[in-house]
Amino acid sequence: MLHQQPRAGCYTPPREADERSPFETPDRRCKRDGIDGTSDAEPAEGPFSKAEVARVLSSHSYQTEDTAYEFTTTTFRKTSRLTVGHPKPDGPIFRWFRSWNHERITNEAKAMELVSRNTTIPVPRLIDHGGHPDGRRYLITERIEGITLSEIQRRSCLQPLGQSHPGDVPCQQCFDQAHANAVDFINTTVLPQLAKLTSHTRGIDGFVMPPRWLSPDIQPPWRGMKQWKTLPREEPEYVFQHGDLGAHNVMVNPDTLQATALIDWEYAGFYPPGMERWTGTLDRDVYAKLGRDLARPIAEFLGEEYLEYYDKWSDKDELQGLIESGQLPHPDEVKRGLQQAE
Ligand SMILES: [Zn+2]
Repeated sequence: MLHQQPRAGCYTPPREADERSPFETPDRRCKRDGIDGTSDAEPAEGPFSKAEVARVLSSHSYQTEDTAYEFTTTTFRKTSRLTVGHPKPDGPIFRWFRSWNHERITNEAKAMELVSRNTTIPVPRLIDHGGHPDGRRYLITERIEGITLSEIQRRSCLQPLGQSHPGDVPCQQCFDQAHANAVDFINTTVLPQLAKLTSHTRGIDGFVMPPRWLSPDIQPPWRGMKQWKTLPREEPEYVFQHGDLGAHNVMVNPDTLQATALIDWEYAGFYPPGMERWTGTLDRDVYAKLGRDLARPIAEFLGEEYLEYYDKWSDKDELQGLIESGQLPHPDEVKRGLQQAE
């Protein structure tokens, strides 16, 4: 799956929303005219022909702190990385760490299999997935051509020459059209079909990936939590969810501006209805705010483990501060909510 085309001389991050900062979207675009994310898909004039550039771009690889991405002309491979250490000039080595960095690869592979087997939602076709002896895991899919909705937000007009929309770069009209199509795709193709996939247990095959809008690696009381429970229910009340509906995960055909696939299913699984927290928009500012004011969603969707970990957390003053700031719910409210649900 082709998230973004890299451009010569400009490192373009793989996704708009980098893993290390799920809800803040740092703008790390290269600012050089002609090769940056705000320019046309067509390469700028230079010593290479368009065909040559296209050939170079079609097979490439890059890596983030936690994941390596490799593209061939027909396939995409994603491999989790081992913990990376960065020596600091004036202190100890900083080690980049992310919980469930390997498990999420398997989770994504299983999610794509499940979705492709049971729905007509377009997802990258899974070719293979597995693990290396050192613990890294990988998945291989067919490569999907196109660009992400995020990238359209940075592009000049995509209409054919002579039919271009008037106005500045990026082209607001192209983005508005693509955004409307993508929202329609999620509302009419994705969510209704996922809602029909139900389960008695959370997660996928016994593994539960914490939601994207939470930061359990750093936030009390979850920090240090090794495993999320499947919380079996008598009725199949959990519904399948993508877990990270954002503009960076919707692939769009740049010619038709229609959504062509939903990618990046690392956070997918069976969860309580509504935990997807779909806001009806793929607006980047709305997405960025999903990680704030979490008291209500935690009480609504993660009440049981919240109470368990609240009790285990030794620094209750710290939790009290987070409750007062709206980041965590009051445990009494959560208890009342759970009793009412019974
Ligand atoms: Zn346009």
